[in-house]
This record gives sequence, structure tokens and C-alpha cells, in this order.
Amino acid sequence: MARIGFIGLGNMGLPMAQNLIKAGHELQGFDIFPASVDRLVAAGGKAAADAGAALKGADVLITMLPSGKEAREIYLGPKGLIAQAATGTLLIDCSTIDVASARAVAAAAAERGLEMLDAPVSGGVGGAQGATLTFMVGGSDQAFARAKPYLEVMGKTIVHAGGSGNGQAAKICNNMVLGISMIAVSEAFVLAEKLGLDHQKLFDIASKSSGQCWSLTTYCPVPGPVPTSPANRDYQAGFTAAMMLKDLKLAQDAARESGASTPLGAEAAMLYNLFVGQGAGAKDFSGVVNFLRGA
Ligand code: NAD
Repeated sequence: MARIGFIGLGNMGLPMAQNLIKAGHELQGFDIFPASVDRLVAAGGKAAADAGAALKGADVLITMLPSGKEAREIYLGPKGLIAQAATGTLLIDCSTIDVASARAVAAAAAERGLEMLDAPVSGGVGGAQGATLTFMVGGSDQAFARAKPYLEVMGKTIVHAGGSGNGQAAKICNNMVLGISMIAVSEAFVLAEKLGLDHQKLFDIASKSSGQCWSLTTYCPVPGPVPTSPANRDYQAGFTAAMMLKDLKLAQDAARESGASTPLGAEAAMLYNLFVGQGAGAKDFSGVVNFLRGA
């Protein structure tokens, strides 16, 4: 069993850390929010006083932070994790961050001879709790082979997407599809309402027709057809609109930098920006249907 340092014990990080503990690993965790560290201790983990203490003696160090800003702060610089890490420590960043930051941090790790992976996830809090996450991994073959047994404890599908940053590239491409498809499905329900077509009837038909997609059949944005979707609990997140906006902005930054044409991605980012601007950032992202309806 390994000694694992875990930094960022939020909605995703805490259940991921709990699954590593359940698998028998020794886990030392840190979060700037002390109550999260208390929850980790209650689940059998050890409290680390700061990020450096989480790293100390660890074979593997995992981070699950909000964005590239926190990842750069924690990994880089003379007091950062990369400067402090002992030879042989495997670094895995599971946060969703911009491709450029992921590559910058991995390059700094490589300069010190450390193996580092970007390994963002999809599957949400339910996936983190149930250990069914999908991991999209960027980095060397050797680092991927070392990390896989740990990622398998937290997820079901582990895909090596290529070199450093490719995990993040896969994540933002996937979430751009998700943001666009949720708006498309929501617009269809809003139009159906105007045309006098029942929600359930549209669902029964579209879910078996060419309009079928995850946003419709798993995460239906209106109450009723899919009882487990957030629409049935007043759009309590799930995956917040603020997080969706963050990912759509990351996709737009990457599109600008790489010269890719993504007009629907740009439109989706603009619509989520307006939705979040109305104070809906903490709501589930499928609540965009209410924004489109004008509620
Ligand atoms: P969260 O805000 O609940 O958790 C982030 C945690 O990091 C917080 O507990 C915060 O206190 C901690 N933190 C911030 N800066 C820190 C620092 N310098 N040192 C130590 N701890 C620090 O967010 P989350 O929902 O757990 O998401 C984490 C990441 O996973 C994000 O990048 C998000 O985009 C991604 N993600 C989230 C979901 C989801 O459904 N929530 C799904 C897939 C991916």
C-alpha cells in the first residue's frame, strides 16, 4: 500500500480521497478549508497542516483544486510542491485547468526529473463517491503505468490521451459538447412548450430518435422524464453553472490560442455567462432551461 498526499478536499476531492483510504492506502490530506480536513480525518485519513506536509513522505501526490491559478500557485515557485518533492514522487493533478498551465507545471516537474500527469475527470460528485469517474490522462507512458492502479481505485474508465496537457484538452472538448448539447436540449423543450407538446412526449420520441444525447437521457433539464436529474430537485447541483462556464471559457481560450473555429462553443459560453450573471452560478448547469424560458 502506498502513502498518498491529497490536496483539495472539496466536493470531488474528499470522496476520491475516501475511496483511496477504503482501498487501504495511507492518506494525508490538506485543504485551506479546515472543515474538509476534519471530514477526511473522520473518514480515516490523516490531517496535514499545509501542502508541504501532505507531500512529505508521499509516494504519490494528488491535487483536486478549483482552477489553473491554484494549481500554478501550489506546484510552482521556490516554495512550491515541485521544488519540495523528493525524487521519485509521482505528481497527479486531477483538477480541470487550462492546457497551458497543465503543460507549464508538467514541464517544471520534468526539469526536476519528476513524473507528472494531468488527469482531469468526468462523472461528477456521484462518480467520485461511487468510484466510477472517467480519467483523461496526459503524460508519459511510464507515469501513466505508475498512476493507473491508483486511478482505478477512484474511477472506472482510465484513458491515456497522450502527452502532457492532453488530458485537459480531452476534458474541455468533452465539456464544450456537453454545454452546447444542454442548451440544444433545453431549447427543444422550451419550443415544445410553446407548440403545446408535452415534455414526456418529446422525451419519449427524441430519446429514441436522432436527438438522443446524454443531456436528454441522463440529465434531462425538465422535471419528470428522468427522475434522477437535477431538474427534479429545483436544479440543486450536480455540476454547477459556474463550473460549466469555467470549462466553456477554458475551451474558448484554447480555441483562440490554437486557431480552432468553435462558434457554438462561443455562443454557449456567452449564454452561460449571462445565466451565471443572473446569480445562478451555484445552480445546476441544466437550470439554463429556465434562463432560456425567461424565468
Ligand atoms: P470544490 O470547490 O468543491 O473543491 C476545491 C477544493 O480546493 C476546496 O475545498 C478548496 O478549499 C480547496 N483549495 C483551493 N485552493 C487550495 C489551496 N491552495 N490549497 C489547498 N486546498 C485548496 O470544487 P470541486 O467540485 O471539488 O472541483 C474540483 C475540480 O474538479 C475543479 O477543477 C472542477 O472543475 C473539477 N470537476 C468538478 C466536477 C463536479 O461535478 N464538481 C466534475 C468534474 C470535474
